[in-house]
Amino acid sequence: METKYTQKYSKTSELGIFDERNLVAYNTFMYSVEKVFGDIRKKGKRLTRARKAIIKMLLSSHALLTAPEINANLKKAGISVNKTSVYRELEFLLQNKIVQAVNISSDVAHYESALHPHHHHITCKSCGQIKDVGTEELDSSMQKLEKRIESLGFEVSDHSLEFFGLCPDCK
Ligand SMILES: [Zn+2]
Ligand SMILES: [Zn+2]
Ligand SMILES: [Zn+2]
Repeated sequence: METKYTQKYSKTSELGIFDERNLVAYNTFMYSVEKVFGDIRKKGKRLTRARKAIIKMLLSSHALLTAPEINANLKKAGISVNKTSVYRELEFLLQNKIVQAVNISSDVAHYESALHPHHHHITCKSCGQIKDVGTEELDSSMQKLEKRIESLGFEVSDHSLEFFGLCPDCK
């Protein structure tokens, strides 16, 4: 059991997508990855090596990646795919609501897990790095706001709230 665990474990960290020290988070991560794999199998869809790797990449600790970054990570992991198939994979994952395009005003599309709890982002104006921002304090006010908007006859599907500033490295 333990050996199996270690094996799986190091395979994942080879992709550079998981903090090895955090075992609890690792277990939760593996659980959701296996669940997603199972759902795809149930739908009768294929689980290629590339598809599996992209899912692992994006479901890991709040990774926010562009298509070229995903491509580079795949290459690093020894999985060679062409650009078009990365976009095809992303399209599949978007359609199946496993991945979402991040709602930020960037020229390049960024993707992240659609399974993480609702949150917002801060973009560093200098180096462009983007980090997740939890919004627990906002959630109830947001619900009230959405109710108010819906009382005007609208159906709210989404909202966007972005933060901008300087990261610790660029300050
Ligand atoms: Zn929000
Ligand atoms: Zn920065
Ligand atoms: Zn995010």
